[in-house]
Amino acid sequence: MTTIKALCPKCGEVELTPDDIELRVCTYSPASYYLFECPLCHETIQKPADDRVVQLLISGGVNATVWELPAEMRETHEGPPISLDDVLDFHLLLAQPDWFSQLTRVVSGH
Ligand SMILES: [Zn+2]
Repeated sequence: MTTIKALCPKCGEVELTPDDIELRVCTYSPASYYLFECPLCHETIQKPADDRVVQLLISGGVNATVWELPAEMRETHEGPPISLDDVLDFHLLLAQPDWFSQLTRVVSGH
C-alpha cells in the first residue's frame, strides 16, 4: 500500500493511505483541493492542490472527484477579480460564528 505523507498544522507530518485522502479537482484548477482526517488529532485538514500535488496524489492512487465552479462564476461582474487573499479572508471569515451577519455588513457597506 502506498503511503502518502501529509502535513497536519497541529501534529506535523503524518502518514496516510490513498483511501484517507479525498481529492477534489476543480475545472478551474486554482480551486482544486484535497482533504484528509489527521490520524492523530482527527481534525479534517483541507489544503489547496496545485497541478503538481494533483498529479502526485493521483499517481499515489488517490481517487479524484471533479467538480465545477457554480455557473455564476462565468457571469460578468464589476470590480476587481477575486484574488487568493480574498479567498483566504473569506475562509477566515467563515471560521467566525457570526460570519453571515459580518458578510451582510460587508456587502451592504456598513
Ligand atoms: Zn493532527
